[in-house]
Amino acid sequence: MSTSAPVPDPRAVPERVEGSAPVPDPRTVPEPVEGSTPVERPRGTIDGGDPSQYVRERSTDGRRDVSYPPAPEPLGVPVYDNHTHLEIEDGPSTGSGTVGGLSLDEQLERALAVGVHGVVQAGGDVDSSRWSAWAADTHPRVLAAVAIHPNEAPVYERAGELDAAIAVIDELAAAPRVRAIGETGLDFFRTEADGIPAQLRSFEAHIALAKKHGIAMQIHDRDAHDAVLETLERVGAPEKTVFHCFSGDADMARIAADRGYYLSFAGNVTFKNAQNLRDALAVTPLDRILVETDAPFLTPAPYRGRPNAPYLIPVTLRFLAAERGMDADELGAQVAANTIEVYGEF
Ligand SMILES: [Zn+2]
Repeated sequence: MSTSAPVPDPRAVPERVEGSAPVPDPRTVPEPVEGSTPVERPRGTIDGGDPSQYVRERSTDGRRDVSYPPAPEPLGVPVYDNHTHLEIEDGPSTGSGTVGGLSLDEQLERALAVGVHGVVQAGGDVDSSRWSAWAADTHPRVLAAVAIHPNEAPVYERAGELDAAIAVIDELAAAPRVRAIGETGLDFFRTEADGIPAQLRSFEAHIALAKKHGIAMQIHDRDAHDAVLETLERVGAPEKTVFHCFSGDADMARIAADRGYYLSFAGNVTFKNAQNLRDALAVTPLDRILVETDAPFLTPAPYRGRPNAPYLIPVTLRFLAAERGMDADELGAQVAANTIEVYGEF
């Protein structure tokens, strides 16, 4: 089992809500190099081995409650999680100094038990994209998104491997159960100015891949709203464009919806300081709303900080429905239909 550096704990810093300091992005952690000072290099190995063996761990930092929240009551309709990272382990320690975590099969079983009938597993580098494509190919109820994350793009670029990495994404995207390019986009919070050209080049290449393969695109947009919208307008957005973990305000939500983009709401919509997200939700047309966990991060209230997982989707959906003054099953059915519209049948 090849385990890379632990993923930083988002609770170590405030969660990513506009107007406050955002979460460190899990894709930016360089692997430690044994016996030497760690150097920055791509986490993905272009000629990787068995993708099913890939796994990452989320840091527990010793303070966080790493027990899984209780299972919610199922909704009365089947629902989906349109963005998750099940390759990242989280959960109670297994005693070996590592975190535990549910297996992929356990995750899917727990999800199904509460009416979550499918997930879109998103990659962010070569290895996690390979894992995502493998998971979708071997597991019913899993579809994949594959991409080089905007914070990884400059790292690959500096290593002279960005084009090779994007070529791997192109190959993976041809598989029938890879239904999106993602997560791609722009991140002006984590990436320094000198990395922005590579990020932009990578984003545009990913947009082209989504169009070439006729699949959806999941956008990561962090402190880069205007540049993301401008890029999509300039080069032309794929037909199905999703703002994963939508982080804008009501004005941006209106612009995005007017252009036919989808807004995917994550557990942070429940956070006290995320009024901008609730304002955005209030003006988003029902046929543009998606829901995601971004697990293991962004666990909805009242479980913030504990491991997130697809089986918690009903918690966020009920919150969204209450905000909209709707019946949870009615909103759930609409969001499920939107999900199928974007990614196809699971
Ligand atoms: Zn994500």
